[in-house]
Amino acid sequence: MSTPVHSRASRRDFLRTLSLGAGATLAGGAGLAQPLSWLAGNPVAERKLGVALVGLGNYSTGQLAPALQQTTFCQLASIVTGSPAKAAQWQKQYKLPTGNCYDYKTFDRITDNPAIDIVYVVLPNALHAEYVVRAAQAGKHVICEKPMATSVADARRMIAAMEKAGKKLSIGYRLHFEPHNQVMMRLGQKQAYGTIKHLAADNGFKFGAGSTPWRVNKQLSGGGPLMDMGIYCLQGCLYTKGQVPIAVTAHFTPETGTGYFKEVEAGVNWQLRFADGAVADCRTSYAENMQGRLRADATNGWLELEPAFGYGGLAGRTSKNDGLLNLPNINQQAAQMDDFAQCILLNKPTRVPGEMGLRDVQLLEAIYRAAETGQSVSTKDVVQLIDRM
Ligand code: NAD
Repeated sequence: MSTPVHSRASRRDFLRTLSLGAGATLAGGAGLAQPLSWLAGNPVAERKLGVALVGLGNYSTGQLAPALQQTTFCQLASIVTGSPAKAAQWQKQYKLPTGNCYDYKTFDRITDNPAIDIVYVVLPNALHAEYVVRAAQAGKHVICEKPMATSVADARRMIAAMEKAGKKLSIGYRLHFEPHNQVMMRLGQKQAYGTIKHLAADNGFKFGAGSTPWRVNKQLSGGGPLMDMGIYCLQGCLYTKGQVPIAVTAHFTPETGTGYFKEVEAGVNWQLRFADGAVADCRTSYAENMQGRLRADATNGWLELEPAFGYGGLAGRTSKNDGLLNLPNINQQAAQMDDFAQCILLNKPTRVPGEMGLRDVQLLEAIYRAAETGQSVSTKDVVQLIDRM
């Protein structure tokens, strides 16, 4: 099943690519501190790491499986689905052996399957915790889709299970591997335009008849657009400012409680306050299409992305007409999964660990509490983790 890496590129190219990708981290940006020739004897590096996709819905079908045809260090090895018809179709399309196809009951048998290195959990939000814990118990590395969990308690339980298993956990934060967002992060954190005083972000879509119903079922989703689309605004503000906020205020939009939105909010507007007095105004909605925008106004200029959060077509601009112009749009999911595969192969930490997922779930809970109570909620006890490139 596993394609030897050297069947697509020579072994030397493979090792060179690995060293280029990882050199900065291993050797502090000054080239490689030690040669990676030890990988030559490493059986894991002899093949692409195998990924099992758990949940074959829209994201797996439309984005992850196609991206796994473009990855260098990992490949689609296995599927987990409750639908026999989908299993048959995927098996045929991606030439997967029957022994690598599981359903939700047989999932735990992946522990006996050496072709699976990474489990990628792509299920409705409330199911992430169960499948991450089961993957940990099966002794596999895990990528878990955003939002990591529907409660802080679940997020902590997932981290503990992965630590106990001694395996790596990352969150499906694809934008950390996307050039426009990476440059926004770097320019903002370096204060290239001065101190950021104000941020603004929005992201949303009009939920309708064709949308997946679990997204408005609170038990499965944990919440509405904030959990789904708003999390990008939250993250964008944190990684552009390079700080975790100290407090949040919020309110639900008026459509909440009507139509589709009986269990989850139709929209929420919230404000993050940072220790230096900076403020971020964010909006998310299932009642309004929004292009997705991230803007920072600083003492000496401004920078913005619009569209900021999509799979492609991202664009940026700044007050100095530099920095964010003409950056490439790449396959974000391929870059994200290849980065995680390299983290495993080189035993280095992921930039998007479970603790980042936990931090964001803590902030999402604070935003909900602020909207429900109408009070400002302190976020000083949130995990103090700053996103880095
Ligand atoms: P989807 O509804 O299209 O797919 C969900 C899959 O889970 C379906 O195949 C469904 O059959 C399966 N499933 C298993 N048990 C289920 C249950 N009890 N109820 C409902 N479905 C069940 O959803 P999606 O858009 O693929 O989203 C899946 C996850 O991926 C979510 O956590 C979402 O937030 C995340 N996601 C991330 C991105 C991103 O850009 N990182 C994009 C889309 C979705």
